[in-house]
Amino acid sequence: MSGADADLRAALSRLPQVDAVLRLPAAAEVSERHGRRELADVVRAVVEEARAVILAASGPHRGAADVLVSGAPALPRAEAAHVPVPGPDEVLAAAVDRLAVDQRRRVQRVINATGVVLHTNLGRAPLSAEARRAVADAAGYASVEFDLDTGSRGSRTAYLGVLAARLSQTPAATVVNNGAAALLLALTAVAAGREVVVSRGELIEIGGSFRLPEVMAASGARMVEVGTTNRTRPEDYAAAIGPDTAALLTAHRSNFLLTGFTAQVSTAELAALAHAHELPLIHDLGSGLVEAVDGGPLAVLAGEPPVRRVVRDGADLVVYSGDKLLGGPQAGVIAGRADLVGACTRHPLARAVRVDKLQRAAMEATLLAHLRADDPAQGPDEVPTIGMLRAGPGELKLRAEQLADRLLAHTPLPEPWDVRVVELAGVVGGGALPGVELPSAGLSVVGGSAAALAARLRAGRPPVIARIDAEQVLIDVRTVAPDEDVELLAGLQAALAALAAPAAPAVPGAPGRP
Ligand SMILES: *Cc1c(COP(=O)(O)O)cnc(C)c1O
Repeated sequence: MSGADADLRAALSRLPQVDAVLRLPAAAEVSERHGRRELADVVRAVVEEARAVILAASGPHRGAADVLVSGAPALPRAEAAHVPVPGPDEVLAAAVDRLAVDQRRRVQRVINATGVVLHTNLGRAPLSAEARRAVADAAGYASVEFDLDTGSRGSRTAYLGVLAARLSQTPAATVVNNGAAALLLALTAVAAGREVVVSRGELIEIGGSFRLPEVMAASGARMVEVGTTNRTRPEDYAAAIGPDTAALLTAHRSNFLLTGFTAQVSTAELAALAHAHELPLIHDLGSGLVEAVDGGPLAVLAGEPPVRRVVRDGADLVVYSGDKLLGGPQAGVIAGRADLVGACTRHPLARAVRVDKLQRAAMEATLLAHLRADDPAQGPDEVPTIGMLRAGPGELKLRAEQLADRLLAHTPLPEPWDVRVVELAGVVGGGALPGVELPSAGLSVVGGSAAALAARLRAGRPPVIARIDAEQVLIDVRTVAPDEDVELLAGLQAALAALAAPAAPAVPGAPGRP
């Protein structure tokens, strides 16, 4: 055996045994929290990686098997002796870090301090207290497809459909998994194998790979594009209608603006044209604003096409999301003519895009809240999205001032940090109301590295998601629920304290560890 071989074997033999690591006193608490099997798996992976590092240092051609078979050809591997071999404590510490990183990959509650009300990456609409209760209630056995009166099988979506139809003021409705599924099902059920006429100005892409032409292709309907990007006239649609036409489609340009030299056909005109040819008009609305807003605290939504107006204007099938301006769970509503909705619910694809019991519970609670609202245009108080959109800059400024006072109540912020109350411009988000600013207020925290502070805030429990703008960390209070103020302040204080204390080891991804 060569000297290098001996070094390699010595290094490998110093690697801790998995069992020895698990027997460390410190491992007991970890295995209680994460499970012994889980800890053992991670410890084993850490040891295996350390072994791989040693072997790699011993030469590119040696695998583990070579080491075990003595007399394998000697390759240059003088480095093996110099690779540091981790001890049991180090292996355990690495395993704990890994488990913490994994834990942070789980979906968890966060404080949204971005001011983006419908933040797609943060789950769009936060549910109302009642919707949350309904979800918790339905989480066990629940009457999902069971008729409590007859004791026999019931429909998963019938009552949801009744509520969605009442809200939409249409003869019928059904609810599916999300807005994209709603449009896919509607196009498939109504127009597969036939033509659908749509304006070139409405071939939209919504975040997360929803592209209208691709949804159309997946439905089996043939898209007939008319007009140009900026101008489409009634004659364009009329000229495209033929014996193979199944429907006209119009889609709300929910996430971009078309301005300048433009022309578009109104819903009423399109509906009249479709009906003159005995065709249905399908309207992909996106956001699900219920009723036209004229003035009042929700005036910012005035540019958004409301479901009920589009229905009054003659759309035969409207499609919208549950988790945008409706403020409910991820879901998609298809509302309109009974025969068309029936074609959707009877289509085999309906099963593939159905809601689960938790969505159903949350959606029923949300629809009922809207149906109870005194003024449908101003929406229900208890739906958080509506409340956040209604909050005016004055009231938000007051909250920001109170937060700043509480933050500075006992001690000044640690050097070099400072906090100011600032006016901010939030957005609705969720691919709704592009170009609309929500005048808001919040805190600007400045002094050190904004990126480092934002990272510390994300590492808190619960994580606080802030915005960064020109080396300031911005906390917009519009999207922070008032009952989250205490946690927000604690998160800010902890993050600033951690950054101010130079001795504290920076362990991103391992929050709250002493
Ligand atoms: C958001 C949106 C969709 C997709 O709805 P999801 O619920 O996100 O699947 C489709 N069309 C329009 C116009 C939208 O704004």
